[in-house]
Amino acid sequence: MFDILLTNEEKKLKEEVKRFVKEEVPSSLIRAMDTDEVKYPKEFIEKLADHNLLGLRFSKEWGGRGMKWTGEVAAIEEIGVLGSGMSCLYSLVSIVGEAIHHFGTPEQKAKYLKPTLEGKFCCAEALTEPRGGSDFFGATTIAKRDGNYYYLNGQKRFVVGAEGADYFLAYAKTAPEAEPHRSISCFIVGREMGVEVKHVYGLLGSRGGGTGRLYFHDTKVPAQNLVGPEHGGALVFNRMMIPERLTTAAGALGMALCCLEIATRYSDRRKAFGDTIRKFEAVSFKIADSISKLDAARSLAYVAARHTDEGLDSRRLVSEAKKTSTEMLWEVVNHSMQVMGGIGYTNVYPIERFFRDARLQMIWTGTNEIMDLLIQHEFYKEVLQKKSDMRDVERDAGDLEGEEEKIYE
Ligand SMILES: Cc1cc2nc3c(=O)[nH]c(=O)nc-3n(C[C@H](O)[C@H](O)[C@H](O)COP(=O)(O)OP(=O)(O)OC[C@H]3O[C@@H](n4cnc5c(N)ncnc54)[C@H](O)[C@@H]3O)c2cc1C
Repeated sequence: MFDILLTNEEKKLKEEVKRFVKEEVPSSLIRAMDTDEVKYPKEFIEKLADHNLLGLRFSKEWGGRGMKWTGEVAAIEEIGVLGSGMSCLYSLVSIVGEAIHHFGTPEQKAKYLKPTLEGKFCCAEALTEPRGGSDFFGATTIAKRDGNYYYLNGQKRFVVGAEGADYFLAYAKTAPEAEPHRSISCFIVGREMGVEVKHVYGLLGSRGGGTGRLYFHDTKVPAQNLVGPEHGGALVFNRMMIPERLTTAAGALGMALCCLEIATRYSDRRKAFGDTIRKFEAVSFKIADSISKLDAARSLAYVAARHTDEGLDSRRLVSEAKKTSTEMLWEVVNHSMQVMGGIGYTNVYPIERFFRDARLQMIWTGTNEIMDLLIQHEFYKEVLQKKSDMRDVERDAGDLEGEEEKIYE
C-alpha cells in the first residue's frame, strides 16, 4: 500500500532486502543472539556488505548506493523483521556513516567509511556515559590535545556493538570550560588505540548486539581522527540524530507488522465458544486499532524521510516519527500478545521476543521524553516566530465583546 511513496528503484530495493531477510539469515542465528550465545553477529554484517546493503544513502564512491532516505526507511522496515538487535547493528552503519560521510575528510572516508560499507570494519557509536545519556552536552569524557594526538579519558556505556566494533565514533570534551554546546568534539577512535571493553550487559531484549561499556585511559587518538571542527561536536551530533531516530522509527514499523500479522492469522484460526476469535469485536477491533496506528506511524516516518531528502529542517518531524513509531510498536505488540492469549506469552511464538525488543525503542536514541522536549521546542518556535498568514480565527469566537477578557497576566 505504501509502495506508492517509493520510486521503482526503491521498490526493487525493498524486495531485495525482503529476500535477504528471508533467505540469508537463519533462525538459528536469531535464537543464538537472543540467548546471548552469539555476542556479536559479524557474519550478518559481512553478508549485508556482500549484498551491498550497508550505508545505502552514501555515495557510490565510498561503496554506498547513493539512495535517499525513503529507500533506506523501506529497507530498514524489512530488516526490522529480524528484531531490534539486528536492525540496530544494521542502522549503526547509517548513523556512524552519516558523521563520516558528511563531516569526514577524504582520508577518513577511505580509511573508515569504505571498509565499513565493505563489511571489513564494524563500527559503534559512543555517546552515553554512566553519569547520563539525555544530558549529552554534560559529558565528562575529556580529550586533551598534545602535539598531533588527543588523549581521551573517561567512560561510555550502553554502546551497541562494543563487543565487535573495530572503531567507535566517540564524543569528548575538548573545551570543558566553554559553554556546553561549544565544548565537545567528535572522534573516530580505533579499538587498537587503547579502548577497553569491560562489561557486556545482560539485556531484557535486543540481545546479541554486544552492548558494552567502554573505558578510555589515555587513549591516544591521532588529531586527523577528529570528525568535524574542534569543539564543533554539536554540529556532528545534530546531524547524526536524524539517522539515529529515523532508523529507530523505521525498524519499529517492521517489528510491529510481524507481530500484527501473527496475531491476525492466529485470530482467524483459533476458536472459542464455538467460533473463531476474530468474530469477537474485542479481538478484531484490536487488530483494527493496531493497523490504523501502524499505518499512521508509517505515514509519518515516510513524510519525515521525504522531508529530510528535500534538505529541509527535519528535527521535529524525525523526533515525532521516532516517538510515534516506538509507542505504536509497544501498543501493537501488546495488542498482538493479548489477541494470542496465553500462547502469546510463551516462546512458541516470537511475540514475547518482540515485546522485549519493543520496550527499548522508547528509551534509546534519545528517550521519548527527550523527543517531546525537542518537539515542543521546535513547535513553539515555529508558531511564535511565524508571521501568520492564516485567517484570524480568534475573531470568529462567539463572544464579540470578549477581546478585553483576554487577560494573560
Ligand atoms: C540496550 C541499550 C542500547 C543502547 N545503545 C547505545 C549506543 O549504541 N550508543 C550510545 O551512545 N548510547 C546507547 N544507549 C543509551 C541510550 O541512548 C540512553 O540510555 C538514553 O539516551 C537515556 O539515557 P540514560 O539511560 O542515561 O537516562 P537518563 O538520561 O538518566 O534519563 C533518565 C530518565 O529521565 C528522563 N529525563 C532526563 N532528562 C530529561 C529532561 N530534560 N526532560 C524530561 N525527561 C528527562 C529520561 O527521559 C528518562 O526517563 C543504549 C541504551 C540501551 C539501554
